[in-house]
Amino acid sequence: MWSTVSRPFPTPRRRRGRQAPWFLLFWKLRVTTKSPASNGTPPALGTTQVYLDYNATTPVDPAVLDAMLPYFSDDFANASSIHSPGQRARSAVEIAREQVAALIGADPKEIVFTSGGTESDNHAVFGIVASPLDSFTSFTSSTSCASHPHIITTAIEHEAVLNACQALEKRGAAVTYLPVDKNGLVDPAAVRAAICPETALITIMHANNELGTVQPLREIGRIAAQADTYFHTDAVQSAGKIPVDVNALGVDLLALSGHKIYAPKGIGALYIRSGTRLQQLLYGGHHQRGARPGTENVAGIVGLGAACAIARKSLVENAARIAALRDRLEREILARVPDSHANASAAPRTPNTSNIIFPGIEGEALLISLDLQGLACSTGAACSSGAVEPSHVLTAIGLSPADARASLRFSLGRQTTEGEIDLALQIIPAAVARLRELSPAYARTSVGAGQRL
Ligand code: PLP
Repeated sequence: MWSTVSRPFPTPRRRRGRQAPWFLLFWKLRVTTKSPASNGTPPALGTTQVYLDYNATTPVDPAVLDAMLPYFSDDFANASSIHSPGQRARSAVEIAREQVAALIGADPKEIVFTSGGTESDNHAVFGIVASPLDSFTSFTSSTSCASHPHIITTAIEHEAVLNACQALEKRGAAVTYLPVDKNGLVDPAAVRAAICPETALITIMHANNELGTVQPLREIGRIAAQADTYFHTDAVQSAGKIPVDVNALGVDLLALSGHKIYAPKGIGALYIRSGTRLQQLLYGGHHQRGARPGTENVAGIVGLGAACAIARKSLVENAARIAALRDRLEREILARVPDSHANASAAPRTPNTSNIIFPGIEGEALLISLDLQGLACSTGAACSSGAVEPSHVLTAIGLSPADARASLRFSLGRQTTEGEIDLALQIIPAAVARLRELSPAYARTSVGAGQRL
C-alpha cells in the first residue's frame, strides 16, 4: 500500500471539512436506502445482485473448477515425483504451460508459474535490475541515469511494479516515472527520450486496472528493441480481455494473474523470452528448472491453463458482448446523472472497464450506498481500498483530489447480464442523487442541474 513508503511523485493529501465523511453517512444510508429490486426492503448486507468489480477479481469458471478438482484428490501427487501419479501431475502441469503460452503467443518453455501477478511483476523487475545493482558501488538514490542501473516506468503502474521500483531506488537504482496524459496514455516519444546507456528495464503495464487504458506497447516495444533494453509489461488486466501477443508487442517479460481470468487466486505466470538473463527471485529446489523453486501448485496451474484456453476460445465474442454492455452502462449513467463524466473514455480501453466521476460525492460513501443495494463496484484498485489518499492513477491523469475521490470504477465480466445493467441503471443515479442531497459540496441550481461549490 502506498501509505507505507515515500512516493516518487506528489499525491495531494485529503482536504477535510468540505464533505460529509463517508463513515458518518453509513448508518444514514443504511436507514434510508431502498433497493429497487426488492420492493423497498434493503437487501441483507452482502447480498450482491449486481457484481461490477471483475477487475478486482473474477469467479472461478465452472469448467476451470472441474478441470482442477481431480488434482486435489485422486491426482494429488507431487509433479516432481518420479512415480506414475507424479508423472500424471507433471503431464497436467505441462499441458497447462502450453495453454498459457498459447494465449499470449509464447513458447511453453518461456512460461514460469508463480503465485500471481504480484510475484510475476516482482520477479521481472528485481530479476533484471537487482543483478546489475550488485556491480554498482554507489547506493545513493537518484532519478538521473548517471552510473546507476536505470528503470523506466509510468506513474500509473500497479503497486506490484511501483513499489518494486521504489525498493530498488532505495538500493541505488534510478527510476524515471513517466507521466501520462488525461486519458492515462504514456507517450512513446517520452519513453525514447528517457532511455540512457544505464537503462536496464522498461516496465509499462498493458492495460490499467482503474481506467482500462491500453498503452501503445507495440511502439514502445520497437523503441525498447532499438535501444536493446529489456521490456516488461504487466498484462494482468489485459490478458483474456484483449489480444495479447508477446511477439507483436515486443516484450521480453509479461505478468499474468489467474484470478483476473476466471482461475483461482494465488496462481499466476511470468513469460520470460528465451535468452533473457533473469536472476531468480526465490531460492530452493530445482522446480521449473530453478527459475521458480517451490512445489508446483498443480491444481492452480491446471486451473490457470484451463482459464487461458477458455479465454483464448471466447475472447472475441466476450469482448464484443461485454463492450456493448459497458458502453450502455456508461452512456446511460452519463445521461441520467447530472455533471457525471467518464475518465479516460477517449483512450483505447479494455472492453469491460468504465471509470466515472460523480462530482460532489465521496466515492467511498457512494460505494457503500451501492453495496447496501446489492451493487458491488470499486473506488479504484482493490488493494487501495481503505486508503485515505485519492488514487495515484486518477491524480496522474490530472484529476483534482476531490474528483479522484468522487470516481468509481465499474468493471464487467463474462457473467454480467443485460438485467444487471438495467438494475445498475436504476440504483446508481438514485444513489448519487441521494448523496448529493446530503453533501454540502454539491448544490442544486434552479434549473435542476447540479453545481459544485
Ligand atoms: N497488476 C495489476 C494491473 C493488477 O490489477 C493486479 C491486481 O489487482 C496485480 C498486478 C496483482 O496481481 P495479484 O493479485 O495476482 O497479485
